[in-house]
Amino acid sequence: MAIVKKSSEVTVSDGTVAVGGWVQDIRNLGGISFITMRDRCGTYQVTMPKKKIDPELFSMLTGLSRETVVRIEGEVKESNQTATGWEIIPSAAEVISPAGVPLPLGVVDKVNVEMDTRLNHRFMDVRKPEVKAIFELKSLMVDLIEEAVREMGFTRVYTPKIGAAGAEGGAELFKVQYFDRPAYLAQSPQLYKQILMSSGLDQVYEIGPAFRAEQSNTNRHVTEFISFDGEMSWISCQEDVMRAIEQVVDHVLTGLKERGARQLEVIGKEINVPARPYPILTYSECLAIVQAAGLLLKEGDDLGTEGEKIVGEHMAGKGCDLYFIAEYPEEAKPFYIMEKDGTPYSFSFDLDFKGQEISSGGQREHRYDRLVERMQKKGLDPEDFEFYLEAFKYGMPPHGGWGIGIERMLVKALDLPNIREAILFPRDPARLSP
Ligand code: ATP
Ligand code: MG
Repeated sequence: MAIVKKSSEVTVSDGTVAVGGWVQDIRNLGGISFITMRDRCGTYQVTMPKKKIDPELFSMLTGLSRETVVRIEGEVKESNQTATGWEIIPSAAEVISPAGVPLPLGVVDKVNVEMDTRLNHRFMDVRKPEVKAIFELKSLMVDLIEEAVREMGFTRVYTPKIGAAGAEGGAELFKVQYFDRPAYLAQSPQLYKQILMSSGLDQVYEIGPAFRAEQSNTNRHVTEFISFDGEMSWISCQEDVMRAIEQVVDHVLTGLKERGARQLEVIGKEINVPARPYPILTYSECLAIVQAAGLLLKEGDDLGTEGEKIVGEHMAGKGCDLYFIAEYPEEAKPFYIMEKDGTPYSFSFDLDFKGQEISSGGQREHRYDRLVERMQKKGLDPEDFEFYLEAFKYGMPPHGGWGIGIERMLVKALDLPNIREAILFPRDPARLSP
């Protein structure tokens, strides 16, 4: 038996081939029937002129249920009726795995199906080329991130996802049972990547899961996402960190546009690659923009979803998709962020993409005494963070870093309506399966 070929490798000069895939659709026109087959590369056609095909084979093939997996052997014929330029006239076929009827979800039907139904049967949903393409682009995106940071000299690290304390020690932690004591799932690699700054591995990155026990039912929050974190030593100011992320984001967007062109065509999207450097707005400037638009926020308030959106519209008016918002009030930022002395602000920033935060970063407090002071100011007990603080007692260079939610970045790059579109099996307060 011939080996099953990918449809993208089939050519008219092949003669007889074996192909495989899902039966996407069958059309019976009396004297002739057609099967649209689908494999990993796309769709192709099996053509069955009734008179030229063994009657038993003809009735078996035309009676298949949609989405059944079959292996078909036949002759490749040139065709100007098909997108591939060829069709297959079958001489033998084997049902490998039949599909039940009815399907939980149509693959080609153009009806709008609720997102919940799609997620409940995600394996079937991903059979849609426009859904599969998102995950191919996500995979490409991670390759591109890795290329960019490697070029910049960063070392890939892995930090634990189960620990005794969380980064910000707050309510956003999932508690788990760790043998006979409690433990927490990591909300970010923050403390570990900072510890590494004193280890000599002083430019590190990690791409891994982050867990947030947030009761947020929004289109941009999930309880498990993939975070791309970077931390770098010997920065002279937070702008060094901004320029580093910018370099990565630019490489990602350029790469998606160029190397993801086929998938982008499938989903009907284009990627805009903004010019660098991305502009930097201060928190205070944003507050003024938001207030001018009529949103009643006062000094110190979080810009919030609505505020971010208004700033996004303001920047879109200037043709600007990506921009930094810097110098947030120190009160709004975690203990590890460096204060801007003599002001209520801090050396912290967000990177916003079309009116939504995709990253937070900043310069960290590397001076032990100041760090302990900040912890106390935030109501945290330094003793709970001994493992972290120790790394600041024996020589810690100045440093800074960022965390980017990769799904948030993809959602904004592709203008997807919901972060769940960019996660195969999303987790949120209501969903723990599949
Ligand atoms: P937001 O204010 O939008 O909830 P955050 O400020 O709480 O986000 P950070 O703690 O700064 O988030 O996390 C860094 C990045 O991780 C965010 O910019 C975002 O891209 C991503 N992220 C954070 N929380 C979530 C979440 N619940 N779901 C998906 N991505 C998230
Ligand atoms: Mg943030």
